[in-house]
Amino acid sequence: MNLTVKPDYINNYKNGHPLISKESVVEWSKVTQEGTIINLVDSKKRFIVKGYYGIQNKGYGWVLSSSTDENIDTDYFIKKIKSALEYREDFFSDQTTTAFRVFNGEGDGIGGLTIDYFDGYYLLTWYSIGIYELKENILDALKQSVDYKGIYQKKRFDGKGKYLDDADDFVCGERAPEPLIVKENSVNFAIYLDDGAMVGVFLDQRDVRRTIRDKYAKGKTLLNTFSYTGAFSVFGALGGTTKTTSVDLAKRSLPKTQEQFRVNNIDAENQDIIVEDVFNYFKYAVRKKLSFDIVVLDPPSFARSKKHTFSASKDYVKLLKEAIQITSKNGVIVASTNSANFSMMTFRDFIKRAFKELNGKFKVEESFSLPKDFRVNPKFKEGDYLKVVFIRKLK
Ligand code: SAH
Repeated sequence: MNLTVKPDYINNYKNGHPLISKESVVEWSKVTQEGTIINLVDSKKRFIVKGYYGIQNKGYGWVLSSSTDENIDTDYFIKKIKSALEYREDFFSDQTTTAFRVFNGEGDGIGGLTIDYFDGYYLLTWYSIGIYELKENILDALKQSVDYKGIYQKKRFDGKGKYLDDADDFVCGERAPEPLIVKENSVNFAIYLDDGAMVGVFLDQRDVRRTIRDKYAKGKTLLNTFSYTGAFSVFGALGGTTKTTSVDLAKRSLPKTQEQFRVNNIDAENQDIIVEDVFNYFKYAVRKKLSFDIVVLDPPSFARSKKHTFSASKDYVKLLKEAIQITSKNGVIVASTNSANFSMMTFRDFIKRAFKELNGKFKVEESFSLPKDFRVNPKFKEGDYLKVVFIRKLK
């Protein structure tokens, strides 16, 4: 099916922009079925690129090819998957890390699909009904390209990428043990492939966790806020912290964090795991004059709790100011955000503002963006969402 692109957008597509935006196309009413392969053409019906129709929060579909003869079939997906696997050869041969991303959406040429690897198991995440409609070919292609123990899937269909709770996320092969123990830089993680939207770890923070363990943790106290399963705390403890404190609002975070300590032979009894709103905890910590050598801030880009709404783009300065007050002198704040709404430059500006408003001084020790396996499309900077800055508090 041909869809005409508005003149202003033609060059974007010719230059490799992968997202098909709503505004760029005139005739959306012509397509009704998500998953339809569409040819974007100019007003003279000349071919520009082809892609699929699939509604996501980001747009109305993704470009798949700039060649008019390329068919979007199993062979097409095999080609994409093979090239993604090749790009990650060093991950497959590394025995100390058995969990990583093998296919990262538009970074690997197909927006709306990610594939993660967990020690022989593959987890596909579908970000629209459109890409899910292409599932048969994609699964065929994956099965022909890898040796797998089992395949799982997550559907994140609605416009906001929310997880659809299917009774069963298992697709084929053998079922993974629960938990499945994977390794990251020799540290164990307990993973649950069929237990809701999240599996227990966010793989994109791998380099940050290692850095905390190897360069910062020894002999220090660590406060881990928005801690989820406590991954930063576990790496801290293995790096020699004197104590970690993990704070998360979700009740499940307590048993989950205890488990992550346990699978690494760390006695969780010696660590603090607190189920509470982070913003209440900050108040408590200030009142009790607590201070920590390392404070990790890793909030979701948007969250609503009973008392607070947190939006990274609006409230990060406030969050930093809370953290600065309970960080020891010469301590380090690890400030992280996965918000695609602002750049690293803006994020650094937030840091400057927070210290300025408290009359403090700081030095940036180092910063991180997505690791290699989270491949980014250079024509789609929004995909490069992760920003992490290690900030030394001087005053
Ligand atoms: N830092 C984690 C990932 C964080 S996911 C890791 O490295 O694995 C975001 C977490 O923030 C969720 O577990 C959620 O329960 C928690 N959360 C959201 N709002 C919160 C709040 N106001 N106080 C405490 N935790 C919160």
